[in-house]
Amino acid sequence: MIAPILQIQGLRKHFGGNEVLKSIDLSIAPGELVFIIGPSGSGKSTLLRCCNRLEEPDGGSITIDGEDLLSPRTNLNLLRQRVGMVFQQFNLYPHMRVLTNVTLALRKVRRMSADEADRAGLAALERVGLAHKARSYPGELSGGQQQRAAIARALALEPKIMLFDEPTSALDPELVSEVLLVMQELKKTGVTMVVVSHEMRFARDAADRIVFMEHGVVVEQGPPAQILAALPGSRARDFMTDAL
Ligand code: ADP
Ligand code: MG
Repeated sequence: MIAPILQIQGLRKHFGGNEVLKSIDLSIAPGELVFIIGPSGSGKSTLLRCCNRLEEPDGGSITIDGEDLLSPRTNLNLLRQRVGMVFQQFNLYPHMRVLTNVTLALRKVRRMSADEADRAGLAALERVGLAHKARSYPGELSGGQQQRAAIARALALEPKIMLFDEPTSALDPELVSEVLLVMQELKKTGVTMVVVSHEMRFARDAADRIVFMEHGVVVEQGPPAQILAALPGSRARDFMTDAL
């Protein structure tokens, strides 16, 4: 058994009287591509957000590469380099060139020299097929290209794991596939990824494992073929097939 990159045990989170995560257990192996699916409000975003402390869990444990992420001593800046996050909204700075967006944290947080940061930033842009847009401004890019730039920004920090929260939900339909293709390429290079997405065909074809959440609980999980072969009445299977 290979040690997991991300291990979540007994994770709990509530907002007021709303128990959003009810003792979640989840392990992600190195190089794995895991899709988290489930109805709106089931706690998917909250789960991802707990993994880089954008939300503070109430209990349980999360470790990244064996390191306790919920310790009061955890350096949040360092943590957020190790856990790359890509959101539905790309959040690029519009007044900065694409390369500057990608290198900002390398210079400010990693304290790299401008040259060093540019080299690392260009390499990251290369991985998402955007090196030729390094000098452009975000507004000159399509939505798909902006999202790829946001992926490059996270990748440049050499995270141990990448978390994607509905990365294609804000895109025009014709721009979705270029972002999914980039994710597929990253998988080939061994990047560990957890993806919340409604792109069910992509999940079926590309995921190593699908995790179905409902009401703050992991209800079912397994390889796509196993979920799809489940008996009618399986919530995960119905949820998946409805979207295929
Ligand atoms: P999903 O991503 O699966 O749609 P979320 O994790 O966004 O679900 O939300 C799960 C539940 O937590 C929902 O009922 C939502 O309203 C609630 N929730 C999420 N974030 C907050 C917050 N910051 N404050 C209060 N309630 C929240
Ligand atoms: Mg969500």
